Amino acid sequence: MRLIVYSKALYSTWVYYSPDRILFDCGEGVSSYLENRVFAIKHVFLSHGHADHISGLMGLINVRNNAMGDQEKELRVYYPAGSFFVSELITYFARTNRNLQYELEWIPLQPGDRVTLLAGRHPRYIEAFATVHARGEPSLGYNVCEVRRRLRPEYRDLPQEEIVALVRAGKKEEISETYVQYLFSYGGDSVPLNPNLVRGTEVLLHEATFVEELDRKEYKHSTVWEAIEVAKRAGVQKELILFHLSSRYRWEMAELEKKIAGLNLPFRVRIIPPGEVVEIE
Ligand SMILES: [Zn+2]
Ligand SMILES: [Zn+2]
Repeated sequence: MRLIVYSKALYSTWVYYSPDRILFDCGEGVSSYLENRVFAIKHVFLSHGHADHISGLMGLINVRNNAMGDQEKELRVYYPAGSFFVSELITYFARTNRNLQYELEWIPLQPGDRVTLLAGRHPRYIEAFATVHARGEPSLGYNVCEVRRRLRPEYRDLPQEEIVALVRAGKKEEISETYVQYLFSYGGDSVPLNPNLVRGTEVLLHEATFVEELDRKEYKHSTVWEAIEVAKRAGVQKELILFHLSSRYRWEMAELEKKIAGLNLPFRVRIIPPGEVVEIE
């Protein structure tokens, strides 16, 4: 997995997930940081229409049309159906970008909708899920899902040679089952996510705008501690990445990391410091 994350609450959030060439949210600064790498982006999935998550669209759409790169490569932008802010932007782009060299497609999504990323033996797709953020502005989170096969529980303890014999006898289908693994989950802006919606994900990006509960005036965002609780309940397998931190905590990063390390969690926790681009291998 390779990720590039920039996130500072109120200002800008964007996350580039390279395995499937997806940009999750498109806050300002994304194109000037990625430069020619913007041509690698195939899909943009917007979590909601607030300015800090869409303010980079103007730059991205323009750079893809004018910079050195494949200017004819199409770009698909997915967004929560019914988003007023995104709908207004679509009208704006339709009026002001009549000479786009590539196809720009806007696709509204509802919770539960799926978008195919990859066909083949282990198909991958995006599944949108509902989040709870601001009144009147629909919001979505997204799971990157992979369809896999595994042995049925009753066959898992059999010795290897017996499994091989069953497969040779043409019973491969019979002894195995299909399951869906979440490889990566992006929650966007939200109060604590419903853990069932990201169950067993390998990597969870959960927003954590606040460290102190008292700093939260309206119930629209999560605290660091709530995000950790969600990850515990969801059984996150590898890593929890906390993003959308308020810049008021910029000087408390080391202390916060120490507190989290003291919790001895069964997964790694990484905090994206507000105002820094973090590249993760
Ligand atoms: Zn935000
Ligand atoms: Zn927001």
